[in-house]
Amino acid sequence: MIFSEDEVERYARHLVLSEVGGPGQQALKRARVLIVGAGGVGSPAALYLAAAGVGTLGLIDDDVVGLSNLQRQIAFSTAQVGRSKVEAAAERLVGLNPHVAVETFAERITAENAESRIAAFDVVLDGTDDFQTRLWVNAACVAAGKPLVSGALGRWNGQIGVFAGQPCYQCLVPEIPLDAETCARVGVVGALTGVIGSMAALEVIKLITGAGEALTGRLMLYDGLAGSARAVRVAADPECPVCGG
Ligand SMILES: [Zn+2]
Repeated sequence: MIFSEDEVERYARHLVLSEVGGPGQQALKRARVLIVGAGGVGSPAALYLAAAGVGTLGLIDDDVVGLSNLQRQIAFSTAQVGRSKVEAAAERLVGLNPHVAVETFAERITAENAESRIAAFDVVLDGTDDFQTRLWVNAACVAAGKPLVSGALGRWNGQIGVFAGQPCYQCLVPEIPLDAETCARVGVVGALTGVIGSMAALEVIKLITGAGEALTGRLMLYDGLAGSARAVRVAADPECPVCGG
């Protein structure tokens, strides 16, 4: 795979990095990443992955851009309010980097379509705020043997995890919490979504290029009010119905 002059200049800061370089940038160009949810986490993550030169980005979200999204979902503009999120984001991503192909799915992930949607991608980034969707995405990733980068947040706190085999996301969240909080109810600081979305994008880039040590089997907990972060191991659940088999 040969890069054009434009691409060599565009990716110059990656090409000089010893952990990326030419081979890493080629791996990024060959990669197909599915972003589930074009919201708080997915929106900045998609921008950074497009800027990084990921060859194909899939976006799945059935929502439309709302005015209250713009406080944090920086892929969208005021003029795009009312439009399909995946279509609006695709325009922005291709504008940022015309070398990226964007595949859009204006639908919800369900138990039925999760496996077929994920099948065509190498890595899945889940930024949805719904536990049921997360569990469906996780089960499909485990079944297909695809790595899952998961980002979640609320108020001032966020977390990133990478799951590949055991432990899986369901080991961490064995059942849907009855009192699950949503950002709509409890609020979220806009800049926090940039932190968590960018960290999720960074983990995707590490998985694709093989740089460093991915957060596989670990959870990074970020406390925005304290200004601190720590990573903890996720315990595999031997009784997990998804990966424990
Ligand atoms: Zn599991």
